[in-house]
Amino acid sequence: HSSGSGGSAAFAHLGKNSTGDRFVLNAADMGVTGAVVDAAEEVEDRVVASDEFRSTALISSREQYAAMYRRSVEDPDGFWADIASHFYWKTKWQSEDGKIHSANMDVRNGQVAIEWFKGGETNICYNSLDRHVEAGLGDKIAFFWEGNDPGVDDKLTYKELLERVCQLSNYLRDQGVKKGDAVAIYMPMLVELPIAMLACARIGAVHSVVFAGFSAEALSQRILDCRPNIVLTTSGVRRGSKVIKLKEIVDDALQHVLSEGFAVGTCLTYANDSAVKREDTAWQKGRDIWWQDVVPNYPKESAVEWMDAEDTLFLLYTSGSTGKPKGVLHTTGGYMVYTATTFKYAFDYHDDDIYWCTADCGWITGHSYLTYGPLLNGASIVVFEGVPNYPDAGRCWEIVDKYKVSIFYTAPTAIRSLMQSGNEPVKRHSRKSLRVLGSVGEPINPSAWRWYYDVVGDARCPISDTWWQTETGGFMITPLPGGWPLKPGSATLPFFGVQPAIVNENGLEISGECSGYLCIKAPWPGMMRTLQGDHARYETTYFAPFKGFYFSGDGCRRDKDGYYWLTGRVDDVINVSGHRIGTAEVESALVSHPQCAEAAVVGFDHEIKGQGIYAFVTLLEGVEYSQQLRASLVNAVRTHIGPFAAPDKIHWAPGLPKTRSGKIMRRILRKIAAKQLDELGDISTLADPSIVDQLIGLRDK
Ligand code: ATP
Ligand code: MG
Repeated sequence: HSSGSGGSAAFAHLGKNSTGDRFVLNAADMGVTGAVVDAAEEVEDRVVASDEFRSTALISSREQYAAMYRRSVEDPDGFWADIASHFYWKTKWQSEDGKIHSANMDVRNGQVAIEWFKGGETNICYNSLDRHVEAGLGDKIAFFWEGNDPGVDDKLTYKELLERVCQLSNYLRDQGVKKGDAVAIYMPMLVELPIAMLACARIGAVHSVVFAGFSAEALSQRILDCRPNIVLTTSGVRRGSKVIKLKEIVDDALQHVLSEGFAVGTCLTYANDSAVKREDTAWQKGRDIWWQDVVPNYPKESAVEWMDAEDTLFLLYTSGSTGKPKGVLHTTGGYMVYTATTFKYAFDYHDDDIYWCTADCGWITGHSYLTYGPLLNGASIVVFEGVPNYPDAGRCWEIVDKYKVSIFYTAPTAIRSLMQSGNEPVKRHSRKSLRVLGSVGEPINPSAWRWYYDVVGDARCPISDTWWQTETGGFMITPLPGGWPLKPGSATLPFFGVQPAIVNENGLEISGECSGYLCIKAPWPGMMRTLQGDHARYETTYFAPFKGFYFSGDGCRRDKDGYYWLTGRVDDVINVSGHRIGTAEVESALVSHPQCAEAAVVGFDHEIKGQGIYAFVTLLEGVEYSQQLRASLVNAVRTHIGPFAAPDKIHWAPGLPKTRSGKIMRRILRKIAAKQLDELGDISTLADPSIVDQLIGLRDK
C-alpha cells in the first residue's frame, strides 16, 4: 500500500473502467469525505444451502436469478408490470407505450422526480387485507401478538384485523381526517400500532409513526414538521422490567407544540392497563379520548379511498445516526409492489411460513417488513411487545418454539447482545421450525454471522443479510436464500431491478473488484420520492454528490465474485497514512476476539499518520480489563487486516452509545476520542444517555 493524499492510493490497484466523463467532481464539495476501503483481506468462507432447502426455494440457482435479474434491468417496465398485475388496481396505470415509470435522477437535467405506475389507482390496505379475505383467507392468522411477559398473548385473523382497521378508519373519518392529512402515531408494539397504520392507509391519510421511545422533544419536532390534527398514543408500555408512561411524553410534546403556535385537536389514547391504568393517566378534557370508548362503536366495514400510485402513503424520519433526521416520504404503488416482492424473494416466503420480525413499527423495517410486505403476501406475523433478553436471554427462542416461527428477522445489535450470554439459552429451545434467518441495520460482523448461523440456525438456515435504508423503501442488496452461496458479512448481490454502482471520489463508476461509494444508478419502485417539505435537501443529500446517481452514504467493496460488502458509512471511513480503512472491518476483527462482545471504531487526529484508529471495546460479561488483553485485541486486528490497521488506542466501554434502533452513534464516540467533550451535541436520542458519562470516566483507564 502506498501512502498519499485522498483516496487515490486506494484505487491504484483497480482496473480503470469509468463510464465516461459525464460525472462532475464535487463529492468533496458536498461534504463527502473518504469512502474507500482497501484494507480487508478476504477470508473465503462460503456457506451453501442444502439440496433440501433448494428443492423448494423460489430461487434455487444463480442462473435462475441471473435470468430474472437481466430482464429486471433491461426491461424494468415489463418486469414490474408483470409483478404489479398480481395486485388489485381499481384503475390500471396508464401506459400507451408499455412505460410504467418515469424518472429523472440527474440534477443537471432539472428537478429530481420519480414516478411508478402513474395514473394507476389502488390501496395498500385493500391489497394487504380485503384481497386475502375475499380470496378465502379470512380465518388465517394475520398477527400473533406476544406480550412483554411470557404467557400474555393474543391473535387476530385477517378477517378480524380487517374489521378492527375498518372501525378505526371510520373513527378517523368521523374526526374529519381526509385523504392527504397527516396522522401522528406514537405507540408501542401492540397490534393497535399496525392497525393504526393500515387505517390511515385505508382512508388515504398519511401516517407518520414516531418510535415510542423518542423523547417529547423529538416527538414535538416531528409533529411540527408534518402538522397532524390527531395523534394516536397509548397510556403506557412495559418494556422488560421498565414501565414507560407514553401518554405523559405525548402531553409534554403537545404542550411544546402549542407553545410553537400549533394545536393538535385530538389525542386518541389506547388504554394499556397492564402498563399504566386509566386512572393513572393525566387527561385533558376535550382533547384526549380513550380509544376503547369510541373505536369499537364504529362499523366493521369501511369504504376504501382509492389512491393514485403516486399519492403519499407515509412519512418516516430516519433514525438520525448521522445528524438531524430527515422526513422520508414514500408513495403508494411502487412501495406496495416493491416491499411485497422483496419480502417474498429475500425470505423465500411460502404460504405456510410463520414470520417474526423483531423490529418496531417506529422504524422502516417495521413498516416494510413487519406490516406491509408480509401482509401483502398474506403471511402470519408475530408481533412482540417486549425485548429480546427479558425475562432472560432465551426469550426469542422460546417465542420461536411457541409459534413455530420459520422466518426470523432481527438486527446485529440483538445478535451480538444474545451472543454475550452464550449458547445455553439458545440450545435450551428446539428451534427446529426455523428455516430462514435475516439481519438488518448495520454490517453484521462475520463472527456474529457465524454464531447466528451455527448456533441459532443449527447450520441449517440461510441468512439474508439485507442491505437497505429508510430511503430505499425495501431491500436493495440481499441474498435470495438458496440462490447462491453466502459469505458471512456480505449482503451478496443486488435485488431485481437494483443497479448498484461503486463510484470513486471523482464521481466515476468503477468496475470489477473495487471499493468506493455505494450508489444506485437506476430508479426502483420503492425509492423515496422526496423529503417532507424540503425537496432541495432531498436533491442535495442523495443526488447532487454523484451526478446521475442515487448516493446511499455508505461505503462498499465488491469482490471477485461480484458480492457486495458494506464497509460502514462513508463519514466513518478512516484514513491512516493514506490507507482507507472501514470502521466495519476493524470492528469485525475486534469482535472475532473470543473475549470481545462488541466494538466501535472511530478516527482521531494523529500527528504522523493523519488519522489514527480509536477503538471502543465492550468485553464479554465477567472479563476484566488488562494490558495483556489490550495487546491481544490489537493483535487480532493485525492478523485479520494488517499492521497498518492496528488500533492506536483501546478504550474500555461498559456499553456503547446507541440510537434507539440499536445503531452505534459514532459521532459521539469521535468527540470523546478527540476530547471535545463540550461538543457532544444532542445526546437525547440515545437509548441510554448515561453511557456517555461512563465512557468519559474511562477515557484514560
Ligand atoms: P440517518 O440516515 O438519519 O443517519 P440511519 O442511516 O441509521 O439514520 P436507516 O435508514 O434506518 O437510518 O438505516 C440505513 C443504514 O443502516 C444504511 O445506510 C447502512 O449504513 C445501515 N445498514 C442497514 N442494513 C445494513 C446491512 N445489512 N449491512 C450494512 N449496513 C446496513
Ligand atoms: Mg441513513
